[in-house]
Amino acid sequence: MDKQELLKRIPKVDEVLKDQRLFVFFEDTPRELVVESVREAVDELRKNILDWEGGDPPAINMDDLIGDAVKKVRGKKQKSLRRVINGTGTILHTNLGRARMSEEAGRNVLEVAMNYSALEYDLKRGARGSRHDHIEKLIAKIVGTEGAMVVNNNASAVLLCLSALAKGKEVIVSRGELVEIGGSFRIPEIMELGGAYLREVGTTNKTKLDDYRNAIDKEKTGALLKVHTSNYKIMGFTAEVSLSELLALGQEWGIPVVYDLGSGLMADLQQYGIDEPTVPESVRNGADVVTFSGDKLLGGPQAGIIIGKKKYIDCMKKHPLARAVRVDKMTLAALEATFREYFDMEKAKERVPVLSMITVSMDEMRTKAILLAEQVRRATEAFEIEVIKSEGQIGGGSTPNQFLAGYAVSVVGKKVSADRIERDLRAYEVPVIVRINQDRVLIDMRTVTRDEIDTVARALIACGEKYDRG
Ligand SMILES: *Cc1c(COP(=O)(O)O)cnc(C)c1O
Repeated sequence: MDKQELLKRIPKVDEVLKDQRLFVFFEDTPRELVVESVREAVDELRKNILDWEGGDPPAINMDDLIGDAVKKVRGKKQKSLRRVINGTGTILHTNLGRARMSEEAGRNVLEVAMNYSALEYDLKRGARGSRHDHIEKLIAKIVGTEGAMVVNNNASAVLLCLSALAKGKEVIVSRGELVEIGGSFRIPEIMELGGAYLREVGTTNKTKLDDYRNAIDKEKTGALLKVHTSNYKIMGFTAEVSLSELLALGQEWGIPVVYDLGSGLMADLQQYGIDEPTVPESVRNGADVVTFSGDKLLGGPQAGIIIGKKKYIDCMKKHPLARAVRVDKMTLAALEATFREYFDMEKAKERVPVLSMITVSMDEMRTKAILLAEQVRRATEAFEIEVIKSEGQIGGGSTPNQFLAGYAVSVVGKKVSADRIERDLRAYEVPVIVRINQDRVLIDMRTVTRDEIDTVARALIACGEKYDRG
């Protein structure tokens, strides 16, 4: 048979569209999308025939064509930003959306998003209100400060602080704290953007109180800035000035001290191996202004939270930048629910997923691992499956060098490579994101909830069946 003959036999798009098997899609899929998929499937077949250079000719049959078209329709209907299962063991995975929020936070977002809300309406007075009121008093109460304010993220929080408090003036920072956080947040650049002049003091490994003191100029200095080095640690021959020492110095000169705390940890988690300054601790030290992220260890939505003395917060609220970095109602809904969890610190450890993943017991992780391993073993023999000890991480630029011991399920394919398994799990209908270590696929139980175990098992079983078919 020659090419011309084959090309003539390709079904017409209209003909394919009449097939019963595509009808189900017309109910809930735009017709255009189905037509486009069929056209692509037909075009691909035509291309295969044109590229054919002897040997078996490409098969032309309706079943394959429909199968291809159905796959394409499904692919086009798939949202790009969608749920995945995090099997990496990294709790604040920057690429996977950082903090997973609490159920209550999620519910509140839905409620506020799908209804009208009292966003800028004072229900007591029946008059215009402020979107900031819902949450600022709550935050101030929970952390014990005079004032609070919420902006888009911590980067904009720092920018707003510097612009409002130190524009045209010098901001004194230790050379050991000129941090870069992923995604090009660099302290010197933010400083420039905020219109403040960076005055570096000390050295990379050692900065003393006198270094700050000697740099202060009554006229020129706008603020002292302390930055928590959340994503690196300087070790060995080191010295840094504590927040309380810096605050005392600032007070002496009437200069505000801004503390970029980074993570926003509310509960003391020392006993779980987390050595990270907490928000309440910085408030107890009498901080002037503290900024932190909403979606790191606080466990809420992306946001920047600014807390501290009322006079500084008021000054920031009036700044023109405040409108540019304003938060959306869904963020406020999620953040209010998240902060409310912290009224009961013990319950928060169970209900805020970031905290429950840090505080989860070895037993619980081991149980989940065994559950998953057994489900998969029962259904397929395509893998060698083992429950092993693992090391998880907080991630998201928090607590470097601190690993959390846990359990993982190790998967080795009898016929396929770890790379192939990783890729296929990632292509599953609910993508399962895993780590590879020494040619093994590791699924870490710290970041997989009990509810997700069945889905992970189904993903692995689907892979296994595919490998067995060859
Ligand atoms: C993470 C972090 C930031 C940036 O916060 P975003 O909320 O990601 O904008 C700034 N400073 C420090 C110290 C951080 O750890």
